[in-house]
Amino acid sequence: VDFSVVIIGGGPAGATAGRLLASWGHSVLLIDSSDAVSARARGLAESLPPSARKVLAQTGLLDIVDGAGFCRSTGNTVCWESGAKRVERFQGAAGYQIFRPDFDRLLLAAARDAGVRVCQPAHVRDVERTAAHAVVRYGANDETAVARAGWVLDCSGRAGVIGRAWRTPGRRTYALVGEWISQRGWQMADATQTLVEAYADGWSWSIPSSPSVRHAGVMIDGISPGRDRRALADAYRLEIEKSAATSDALADATLTRVWACDASTYSSRRFGDRGALLVGDAGSFLDPLSSAGVKKALASAYLAAVVVNTALVHPRRTDTAIEFFSRWESGIAATHAARSREFAIEAAARYETPFWLRRAEPAGAHSLSAGRGAAVDVAAVQAALTRIRTAATLDLALDDEVRFERQPVIRGREIVVEDALIAPGPPGAGASTDATRFVDNVDVVALARLAGSHGSVPALFEAYCRDCGPAPLPAVLGGLSWLVAAGILRQRNAVPC
Ligand SMILES: Cc1cc2nc3c(=O)[nH]c(=O)nc-3n(C[C@H](O)[C@H](O)[C@H](O)COP(=O)(O)OP(=O)(O)OC[C@H]3O[C@@H](n4cnc5c(N)ncnc54)[C@H](O)[C@@H]3O)c2cc1C
Repeated sequence: VDFSVVIIGGGPAGATAGRLLASWGHSVLLIDSSDAVSARARGLAESLPPSARKVLAQTGLLDIVDGAGFCRSTGNTVCWESGAKRVERFQGAAGYQIFRPDFDRLLLAAARDAGVRVCQPAHVRDVERTAAHAVVRYGANDETAVARAGWVLDCSGRAGVIGRAWRTPGRRTYALVGEWISQRGWQMADATQTLVEAYADGWSWSIPSSPSVRHAGVMIDGISPGRDRRALADAYRLEIEKSAATSDALADATLTRVWACDASTYSSRRFGDRGALLVGDAGSFLDPLSSAGVKKALASAYLAAVVVNTALVHPRRTDTAIEFFSRWESGIAATHAARSREFAIEAAARYETPFWLRRAEPAGAHSLSAGRGAAVDVAAVQAALTRIRTAATLDLALDDEVRFERQPVIRGREIVVEDALIAPGPPGAGASTDATRFVDNVDVVALARLAGSHGSVPALFEAYCRDCGPAPLPAVLGGLSWLVAAGILRQRNAVPC
């Protein structure tokens, strides 16, 4: 059977990439090994931050997820560096507390509706790749089927059917997870929130999957007690007792089941080549402390779909598109590895234990450099925004050191090569190595070029919308503030902006 794309795995990454590619007119076969019963038995409650709404909207899934009735969360309750409880409330929209089997079923149904042929449960046994296509052997029980496709997306998560061979290991960590039921509520000020707590030799989290059910997990060193249920439950209870705030929250609840899973981090030496991409967890596994795994899987799926679509429609852009994908993936993995280390350094200041001291060490060879990017300090952007809002007029010009460079960028469902901005960089450090075309979906190259010839925000906004299409004013103001804070636009005279 011939398909444009074969997708291995039907988690968030596989279902989303498949749905997009099928809705863009490509023939897609998705093969997933999970069966409904065991998926529910090992299903986790997971947390999605409000910022995931953006990628859900971008992939056309926001209304579907909003309509599913998942628990919503107002923020996180955190006991970390000092041991005291701190509430981090989300600004604006609420986050989602999703029971993964329900979330995955929703996304897979959306993929089917878009025309993806879904084969489940079926296991991909091997993938044989030639220069022209890949041959995928898969099946259930003793039966084997064969599919041939120009592209294979490895969305098989930790299994990494293709990705395992390219993998670079990170920190070895085990998760023990328990399901708790309580009709009397939870000993927390706001039980919609995720509770996260560091303790001497691990950290714990708990997330509601419904008002009366919470999944509480611990992340520890070492190995799982295997299939010995009693040893597993004993080890789990021991860890939960070490985690004071989590123990308190669960005081009135009953533990109904315990299971273990590997939560070790890893990344990859490469994330794709001609005919294959590693998408979502198949390419890298972020520390679950970030609550960013699903969001990253969705974003990775979106980008993978754009790359494959570009390669199928414009084969000459294939290498550029793959390079773009790999840079993005390695940047995300490196950024999150650095962030995890910062959390570990904070915890190690309180608990000088091997668990935290090891995680606070500089990452080893597995970490990939994120590059010196055009990242701009949030406070500087905020200050620039305040100045722009209060200024009667604008008098901005491009900084002399700003360069434009031809770079791959995403335009709709394709990677194209267009001008991008290279920011001047801090004094003495030379220009940034990262080129930027869009900030919050605002075309900052177009905005920077227009800014010099428009003397007020309304005039600039009107010109931008005329040239680039309608955009929300706050996003355009955000883009303008970013250009000022990055030193790309400078004020020409004394007008304070
Ligand atoms: C303990 C723990 C807690 C977490 N908490 C959070 C959280 O709160 N928030 C968050 O955002 N993320 C969290 N994550 C991370 C999140 O679960 C992953 O990032 C996410 O599942 C990645 O999605 P994916 O589609 O890439 O992979 P997966 O969801 O792993 O999907 C892979 C699919 O591939 C299938 N498959 C595997 N091998 C084969 C094969 N040979 N043939 C066919 N199919 C195959 C599997 O059955 C599965 O359906 C957590 C992870 C762990 C371990």
